[in-house]
Amino acid sequence: RLQRLRARLVKSNTIFGKGLLALLASDKIDENVWDEVEETLLLADLGTEPTTELVDALRERVKVLGSRSPEDVKALLREELIKLVDPSMDRSLKVERKNGHPAVVIVVGVNGVGKTTTVGKLARVLVAEDKDVILGAADTFRAAAAEQLATWGQRVGVPTVKSDIDGADPASVAFESVKAGIEQEVDVVMVDTAGRLQNKVGLMDELGKVKRVIEKLAEVDEVLLVLDATTGQNGLNQAKVFSEVVNITGIVLTKLDGTAKGGIVVAIQKALGVPVKLVGLGEGPDDLAPFEADTFVDALLN
Ligand code: GDP
Repeated sequence: RLQRLRARLVKSNTIFGKGLLALLASDKIDENVWDEVEETLLLADLGTEPTTELVDALRERVKVLGSRSPEDVKALLREELIKLVDPSMDRSLKVERKNGHPAVVIVVGVNGVGKTTTVGKLARVLVAEDKDVILGAADTFRAAAAEQLATWGQRVGVPTVKSDIDGADPASVAFESVKAGIEQEVDVVMVDTAGRLQNKVGLMDELGKVKRVIEKLAEVDEVLLVLDATTGQNGLNQAKVFSEVVNITGIVLTKLDGTAKGGIVVAIQKALGVPVKLVGLGEGPDDLAPFEADTFVDALLN
């Protein structure tokens, strides 16, 4: 699994596992080298505060260490990175039935980040765990979105609740999906929403309504915010807006393949105080992985 993850994170691995380690293994680490370390971390989108924190910690530890082998350097970088990624966060998905109701997962995020794809991939993971799943196509604003979700549903073998009316009320589709989930006694209802971010009030109205309507029937167990790792700072801004509108319980960071900005994991968690729970590593149905601090850091460094 580590090898596979590493292969998908090859660009971030080049920065952390090659660039950074080489810098820190220099015979003499002078101010120029520390500047380069800092630049490298900023390029990887670690964010300014975590970068300063990490550089300070590394400086201190390198000083204490005195002479260092490449293995020493790798071990301490590994430790400090894992600390930053925070292994203590609860990254488990709440996808168990409770009180005779299905678990309800709402998936939010702006268009194009990989929301629908993530719902499809996650449904596949849940089905592989022997769970019964229903998908709700509450993204009623993008014409093809419901079709796209239904196609994923077929591929994975789970039903999709959608409206035949273009521009139907997302909240009513969400309601029908959860209702169907309760009637059919499934384990998980996963609701795909529309991500229109032209203004915060509109988003708040829409997502707020979806959530309120669902809560007439069942508790919402997860609100997963999907963010595109390749958008860096922009993703961070989206994250902030969404977190002001709904109570996000977890982040899904997509498109981590093909970007060197792996540090964005840390930046986002720091900014929101919400754990990254899943990462998207490609367009295929199997390209979704649970996020674990140590495996992630190992994939970056090895
Ligand atoms: P939505 O508008 O947020 O629902 O986005 P879609 O699910 O339609 O995805 C937009 C595009 O991103 C599609 O071409 C997906 O195949 C692609 N995509 C989604 N997740 C990933 C990922 O983890 N890696 C890569 N490389 N592409 C992805």
